[in-house]
Amino acid sequence: MKFKIGLVISGVSFLLTIFFFLIFKIVFPGLKIALSYQLIFFLFLAGALSWGVFDHKSPLFGHNFWRGSKKQPVMSLTFDDGPTEPYTSAILRILNQYRVKATFFVLGQKVELYPDSLKKIAADGHEIGNHGYSHEVLPLKSPAKIRSEIKKTEKLIISLSGQKPELFRAPHGWKGPWLKKTVQKSGYELVSWTTGVWDTDRPGEQVIINRSLKAFKNGAILLFHDGRGLEKNPDCHQLVAALPVIIESALSQGYRLETISRLIEISRLKLGSHLE
Ligand SMILES: [Zn+2]
Repeated sequence: MKFKIGLVISGVSFLLTIFFFLIFKIVFPGLKIALSYQLIFFLFLAGALSWGVFDHKSPLFGHNFWRGSKKQPVMSLTFDDGPTEPYTSAILRILNQYRVKATFFVLGQKVELYPDSLKKIAADGHEIGNHGYSHEVLPLKSPAKIRSEIKKTEKLIISLSGQKPELFRAPHGWKGPWLKKTVQKSGYELVSWTTGVWDTDRPGEQVIINRSLKAFKNGAILLFHDGRGLEKNPDCHQLVAALPVIIESALSQGYRLETISRLIEISRLKLGSHLE
């Protein structure tokens, strides 16, 4: 999929390069533009567009909340692509054991499979974020399609938990030019993360712990998974095994673990904003 979008970006860049070349020819008919300059322009454009789409921290298509204020020892643990059992329940038990709150970015199709898990997340006082309905990547999707991904999942979340989610995280964090506006118009804040732990690659419990500990810093948002896209039987047991050590280490280092909405609140009210 990344390859396909990369190809489209290259195509768009190429067409824009030709377009600008023709405009130059019309406006400055006497000007000779060397081919090498066109090539550099083309590569620059393709690079810039790829940065805007694939780098979730890139502000090219609008800022999103990817870290909180650096001035307070607060972090957020987030779990994407769930709910999936038995992992979501296992994660909830661990969070409850340490009395910390987290944020779950759920997929509509997974909520349909595990409605009770969604209720449990809400009942335990964690935050539920919207991660779309089908985990389709959105950079090339129309605003109407993006809205339908958001609204279908929103309906499910509201009917099961009674809460309207306020945060949207795009699948893979990929953005297109109109994503942020569409998300905002739907009543959501666009958020991503500071560090992806890549736990879905199942690198081993100790590697998940090491990567997480390395990512600890004020305002950090850590990305974990209680699912893997729409996979029916993902294996998240390494994360479940690593999580108690990660939480214990964070607490013993003096960090507070809060939901993303709380992190946004803390970052905005007391210490200024990273948002527009
Ligand atoms: Zn995802």
